[in-house]
Amino acid sequence: MKDETKCLHSGYTPKNSEPRVVPIVQSTTYVYDSTDDVAAVFDDPTKSLIYSRFANPTVMAVEDKIADLEGGVGAMCTTSGQAASLLSVLNICSAGDSIISTPQIYGGTINLFAFTLKKLGIEVIFIPEDATDEEIDAAFKPNTKAVFGETIANPALAVFDIERFANIAHKHGVPLIVDNTFATPILCKPFEFGADIVIHSTSKYMDGHAVQVGGVIVDSGSFDWTNGNFPELTEPDESYHGLVYTEDYGKAAYILKARMQLMRDFGCYPAAHSAFLLNLGLETLAVRMKQYCENAQTVAEFLAGSDKIESITYPGLPGDANYELAQKYLKGASGVISFVIKGGRDNAVRFMDSLKLASNEVHVADIRTCVLNPASETHRQLTDEQLVAAGIEPGMVRLSVGLENIDDILEDLKQGLDKVEI
Ligand SMILES: *Cc1c(COP(=O)(O)O)cnc(C)c1O
Repeated sequence: MKDETKCLHSGYTPKNSEPRVVPIVQSTTYVYDSTDDVAAVFDDPTKSLIYSRFANPTVMAVEDKIADLEGGVGAMCTTSGQAASLLSVLNICSAGDSIISTPQIYGGTINLFAFTLKKLGIEVIFIPEDATDEEIDAAFKPNTKAVFGETIANPALAVFDIERFANIAHKHGVPLIVDNTFATPILCKPFEFGADIVIHSTSKYMDGHAVQVGGVIVDSGSFDWTNGNFPELTEPDESYHGLVYTEDYGKAAYILKARMQLMRDFGCYPAAHSAFLLNLGLETLAVRMKQYCENAQTVAEFLAGSDKIESITYPGLPGDANYELAQKYLKGASGVISFVIKGGRDNAVRFMDSLKLASNEVHVADIRTCVLNPASETHRQLTDEQLVAAGIEPGMVRLSVGLENIDDILEDLKQGLDKVEI
């Protein structure tokens, strides 16, 4: 099946007389005929359902759909994108380990990596994307367990050179984890370029309608965990009666460990109703992504021609620093544009406050057009140094182009820019 078809049909195939739409199984628990039956499920929780803290049929239908869209062997939903980032790392790192990440990633991920993981004893080594292969090689330590990057960085809009970083990671015997939130599998499938694990904040384009926060981890099934660097996957798990993930679950070892061990213990699993809503968003993801790209391209070309704009970043614009990478990795440059208004933060705020159609909100990738000033909003916890490293200037506006008629979007931006004096 092609992506448009997978969006509608993957993950749930009703049998004779069953509901057309994936049902909401609003139940915490599942009934068995005998104690022996329950015991058997505890022995191998992948055989059936035990408890909705780590598996639920509605959520699993969505997981299967996303795994299919990304081309992976399995997926696990989480209650937020943050939880997905956290568990994707914790699944292979313990206190005393390290990972390598580019600094051009979502602000919340920087906080998680630079502060919270540090408190847990996991070091994150930040290496800029334009570092040479030799510089990146030199950053690896014997305890380095993964490399992390973001397909289209939020909000710097740098396109991650997935293939290059995958090759470097594999040379050192560790997987590449890619946050594919802004691209979605419709615009980029990181596994095709060598990534091993993909995560998403499903709160963005996948949900699309700003109705529920969520995340997902997807496993490509292609990384060899038996290379000696990942004893947690190849040695008996004491918390699961000595089960060995790579032996018992083969290609799906990583994602099943995440579910059986981490989700069991942390319990950040979405409710069935949230998964149902996410599924509605996923059904139209492919058609929506095409329109976001088309609208954003038109808006980017319009902004590039305005004398009120100091600089604009949109990987779909020829001449953009990331244009070549976008041509290689993306089927479209997605719906988010960053630009710097002349006159710094004050003018950025004046412009944003003048908008009538676009809303000023802490969200992105919504079906409605919205704007945000990262320096004073999402990224306000970052130091100036971290802001620069993440590619953010004080006067930067992050514009998330929605699916309104393009004429209305342009008219709103024009009248907003008219209010800015330079
Ligand atoms: C929003 C976002 C996250 C965090 O996701 P939440 O669902 O808000 O927890 C992670 N990565 C990227 C790229 C994001 O845009």
